[in-house]
Amino acid sequence: MFLTRRRTLAACALLLALNACATAPAPPDADLYTGFTLIDPATEARIENAYMLVANGRIVSTGRGDGPANIPADRRHDMTGAYALPGLIDTHAHVTLGRLTVRMENGAPVIESKSEDEITAHNARMLLGFGVTTIRNPGGATQANALYNERVRTGALVGPEQRAAGEILDTMRIDGLTTVVSDTASIEAAVATQAGAGMNYIKLYQMLNEAQFTAGVEAAHRHGLQAITHTGAISWDHAAELGVDGIVHAMPISADSLPAAARAGYRGADQAGSHAFYEWWERADLESPEMQRLIRTLAERHVTVDLTLVVFQKNFWGDDASVRDTGAEFVHPLMRDNWRVFRFDLGWQPEHYARARAVWPKIQRFARMLNEAGVPLTIGTDLANPFVSPGYDTIAEMRLHQEAGIPAWDILRMATSQAAETMRLQDRIGRLTRGMEADVVFVDADPTADVANVGRTRAVLLNGVYHDAAALRSAP
Ligand SMILES: [Zn+2]
Repeated sequence: MFLTRRRTLAACALLLALNACATAPAPPDADLYTGFTLIDPATEARIENAYMLVANGRIVSTGRGDGPANIPADRRHDMTGAYALPGLIDTHAHVTLGRLTVRMENGAPVIESKSEDEITAHNARMLLGFGVTTIRNPGGATQANALYNERVRTGALVGPEQRAAGEILDTMRIDGLTTVVSDTASIEAAVATQAGAGMNYIKLYQMLNEAQFTAGVEAAHRHGLQAITHTGAISWDHAAELGVDGIVHAMPISADSLPAAARAGYRGADQAGSHAFYEWWERADLESPEMQRLIRTLAERHVTVDLTLVVFQKNFWGDDASVRDTGAEFVHPLMRDNWRVFRFDLGWQPEHYARARAVWPKIQRFARMLNEAGVPLTIGTDLANPFVSPGYDTIAEMRLHQEAGIPAWDILRMATSQAAETMRLQDRIGRLTRGMEADVVFVDADPTADVANVGRTRAVLLNGVYHDAAALRSAP
């Protein structure tokens, strides 16, 4: 008894000594940030008058008060009045896609998506300027995406860390964006190539049939990659049953997800011109057994969804410059020019815009239902698609989730810790705690009061390196 007590006391003394060692002398090259309110979406905690000590790209410690005293003046950063959040994660940013062009090949038009270094660098910089420190790139040229990773690693390019899919697997040819696959062998070969080039995801596109889709999911998993999909005829719940890890876009446009009585005459994605975007929603019934099953299946299987509301808003309000062109000043001019020709609302008449806008409340309600059911939602924009502004629209996507009636804390999690978990990166990003990467966004107003305040970026730390937000956003 006596000995045990003695041992306990000795252990306590040792622990106290270790603790003192851990907090007292900061590493010689450490930076200290003070005076801000620390926001941790994962726990809904807030620490007023907080400090954060950063060294070697990691968070050394955080807490309330002034922090360690032995930091030289030039390593102290007064962030009074700011709110600190984990760096944002945009889970749908095709950062390496440039302009679309059409050329003739053997008398037939071929669409080509070029990767253009100048546009990639611009997108990367703007994303960071709005606090985005990590992206999931759900499709692009494998080579361009591998090059992006290399340039970020060596410091040749300033931008978010990327986790990427290579070319999207589909039966439709778009050079630089898709790999045309047919049988299981062609799918296995495409997946093996992307895995070998360091990709993290396989993206399965909407024209694949069920056998091809299944082969894609299985090949991805065999290579340790996550399978994500933009579905067409295959319903979301069936894609989930077939083992997919993630689904993109608020467009579950399969006829199977409509009530039986609403299927007759539904043309799906077969018709040209994106009309399925609103025609499906006009026919859908969120209370139907089909939709209840869809939502339940996704929740049970933890299938992650990024709705990319902003790209659809810009499509549905494509005739209204006050919505469509918001944030255009942050878009590369060559992309702005390209969207005069390539856009989703080509051929739309006033009637089509009116019908699309009429289904918007239904889409908002769907977002709310997914969140309430426990489906892991993340914040993705579909950057590189028409009128999506890099970084600026990551904030807009958060705001659109708020307008859908989702609580601010939930949305802040979607953009940070929840996205990190779905990307299997929760051990190093998504929280502002000791040992995590020092990916931090400092904003000038309380993001828990209004998620739009996340756009009032003061500064961003990327792996501990300080960037002034205004400097990043001003054109190079
Ligand atoms: Zn996309």
